[in-house]
Amino acid sequence: MSTIQASSLIPEPQNRTIRAPRGSERTCSTWQTEAAMRMLMNNLDPEVAEHPESLIVYGGRGQAARSWEAYDAIITTLKRLKPDESLLVQSGKPVGVIQTHKDAPRVMIANSNLVPHWSTQEHFDELSSKGLMMYGQMTAGSWIYIGTQGILQGTFETYAECARMNFGGTLAGTLNVTGGCGGMGGAQPLSITLNGGTCLIADVDQSRLQRRLDDDYLDELVGDLDAAIDRAVELKSQKSATSVGWCGNSITLLERLIERGIIPDTLTDQTSAHDPLQGYCPIEYTHEQSIEAREANAADYQKLALASMRRHVEAMVTLQRLGSVTFDYGNNIRQRAFDEGFKDAFSFPGFVPAYIRPQFCLGRGPFRWCALSGDPIDIYKTDYALLQLFPKEDGGYNERLHQWILGCHKNPEALLNQDFANCEPRFAFQGLPCRICWFGLGERDKAGLLFNNMVQSGAVSAPIVIGRDHLDCGSVASPNRETESMKDGTDAVSDWPLLNFAANIASGASWVSFHHGGGVGIGFSQHAGQVIVADGTPEAADRLARVLRNDPMMGIFRHADAGYEDAIQCGRDQSVDIPMA
Ligand code: NAD
Repeated sequence: MSTIQASSLIPEPQNRTIRAPRGSERTCSTWQTEAAMRMLMNNLDPEVAEHPESLIVYGGRGQAARSWEAYDAIITTLKRLKPDESLLVQSGKPVGVIQTHKDAPRVMIANSNLVPHWSTQEHFDELSSKGLMMYGQMTAGSWIYIGTQGILQGTFETYAECARMNFGGTLAGTLNVTGGCGGMGGAQPLSITLNGGTCLIADVDQSRLQRRLDDDYLDELVGDLDAAIDRAVELKSQKSATSVGWCGNSITLLERLIERGIIPDTLTDQTSAHDPLQGYCPIEYTHEQSIEAREANAADYQKLALASMRRHVEAMVTLQRLGSVTFDYGNNIRQRAFDEGFKDAFSFPGFVPAYIRPQFCLGRGPFRWCALSGDPIDIYKTDYALLQLFPKEDGGYNERLHQWILGCHKNPEALLNQDFANCEPRFAFQGLPCRICWFGLGERDKAGLLFNNMVQSGAVSAPIVIGRDHLDCGSVASPNRETESMKDGTDAVSDWPLLNFAANIASGASWVSFHHGGGVGIGFSQHAGQVIVADGTPEAADRLARVLRNDPMMGIFRHADAGYEDAIQCGRDQSVDIPMA
């Protein structure tokens, strides 16, 4: 357990406002490098990052660069990088430039990696406090975080699948309780209401709830605990797709629900339990007190936080036994409670085996894109083009795609009439305008080539950046999350994300990353990311075709190898070359 000063784990704050340049003029030598620079800056845009003054983007202390000096050096180096050079970034610090070739990634990033025997939170914190490492989370240190919309689609998919499996396809008339309204968790209320349900969410930090209220991700804030519960119960009975926030500890909320005999239909949690020092607030403290307490004595603070996580999971298991459809939402809270001696901590499943894995077996996963022009109209045009490329009538997941894209618009008619000037976003863009949806093998490369054609023809006014979360079908080993309960027991095998990292370098991604500890904390995961730029050139088209086919194909290899029939069949249907299948 860390005994070091909590403040030494976070970069010295600076009062600077970072915002990516917009438009079709570039200052770097290629669009790949320009895109990497703009997306790093976009990660730190105050509309996007949770604590930009300390370079913290989301997920506890997920950083974009190790220090402000390192940030400045990255930007300077990218501006002078030649089209056949690549920058190496080690845990947020630019450490070297190598001669490569034009199809090689312009930036290669490794974040937070430690040799397994030393890969403990304590050792990591020791290095981090000396400025020798940083925590990259998933898309913070790999420069493709796009604000809460990034997780919104994944959370929407999870609740849609949960509704399909448990409630006849809709959350209408259900009460969905959760905690943590931060960078990722803030997507929960809107995902629930987009699926028709009522949401009740707790967060100890009033400012987090207020931010989601301002962004239209949360509908109401109620100050008193019982009044918030009463309001949510009333909304459920009216089948109202409305979300209610309450400021306080999740444990307090769950224990009160148990006392009052109110059983949520679904229950999960997205407090930052992966980080017992910087992330989670124990029951003993208010948010304000927790800031002082973690600074005063880090070891004592973590003991309290871990004990609280046990109590939190005990309440979740109690509600599960009373009938709530309960799942872990990727913050490792079950492991923490188990390590604290609660042997039933794993009574409820992770969201991946419950709702996501069947999609991973088809190479389906997150696909996000960003308009470097800064013009929302470019995103509306891509929205429309995708609806044409993947018509609803073709079946499969196309209907959900249409529901999602049209749900992103306040005025879907304007989109369908190609009246782009009158389109309005249903939820505010944060930073550069962007969109996310889920696509499978055979769809991602089609979409990427469509965007490249749109850049080439001038239909959109500047290149488009295409990336994804590290939470994807073949890019992550995380035994308590993405690879929980694999059919063949290979949950902890991390050869797969390494092969994914290698495949994306060989295929010509624009920048690539390999991280440790994202989502679930140090020691618990390894994962890889890729980002690729559609700049309208034929060379980009070749790279897009390779990267956006090979990247999701890793999901087919990974799941076919583990014995999942759907992945084997998908491989057969799509002529995937699997030597031993
Ligand atoms: P964040 O740090 O931005 O937000 C966490 C929120 O939890 C904060 O607002 C904090 O005030 C609140 N909180 C902490 N302890 C609390 C308590 N006891 N009761 C009520 N509120 C409390 O983190 P985030 O980006 O929202 O991520 C949340 C968690 O989800 C992290 O552990 C992260 O690793 C994990 N995560 C999940 C996914 C996924 O796909 N499901 C993806 C990324 C991250």
